[in-house]
Amino acid sequence: MATAAQPYLFPPCPQPVLPIRGRAEVMPVHRIYCIGRNYEAHAVEMGHDPNKEPPFFFQKNADSLVVRGDFPYPPQSQDVHHEVELVVAIGRAGSNIPVAQALDHVIGYAVGLDMTCRDLQAEAKKLGRPWEPGKSFEHSSPCSELVLAADIGHPAEGEISLKINGETRQVGDLNQLIWKVPELVSVMSHFYHLQPGDLIFSGTPAGIGPVHKGDRLECFIASVGSLSLKVAG
Ligand code: MN
Repeated sequence: MATAAQPYLFPPCPQPVLPIRGRAEVMPVHRIYCIGRNYEAHAVEMGHDPNKEPPFFFQKNADSLVVRGDFPYPPQSQDVHHEVELVVAIGRAGSNIPVAQALDHVIGYAVGLDMTCRDLQAEAKKLGRPWEPGKSFEHSSPCSELVLAADIGHPAEGEISLKINGETRQVGDLNQLIWKVPELVSVMSHFYHLQPGDLIFSGTPAGIGPVHKGDRLECFIASVGSLSLKVAG
């Protein structure tokens, strides 16, 4: 990686950060990886074989995080969907990490939303093009504060759910993850030199669907926390 030994031509963009429950410090966010089809019932609802296929992933930009405030409905889409996900935060660098050591690299967890322009994603799938227009758009990654594994451990079961205007739309259990957190960390570390501040969105349970301007989204993951925000116009 190139580093600046000379003055910057212009100031670098602000460092995206996540607040941390109970701490004065914030976590600088480096990269965002998102795992696809990692709950059986969601794989089926998207028309895929629920058998354990190798995990696949895509990336979002760290500056797509929305930590506080509303989610602005992206003007380029007419079919924006919610995907509530357990977010895994890396706190220690590593590559080719064995599954048995993977949790040593996880510093904490958060509740995230992998917001998706389903119409643009469907078009990309049909044309064999990259998913970025449908997945990696501005404000596409709302995320709660981070909770440290030192405080809550490493949750492997418990409710994950999403309500819209008080009505439950998505519900699952972390024990339904097809590829578990240690496996995801290990797999990603074989593609990348994982760094402190990397986030892994671990996939969404069944019940995905559209959001509309004015909707209030409430996301919950047992022992991790909650994320509440409004879809703005
Ligand atoms: Mn997702």
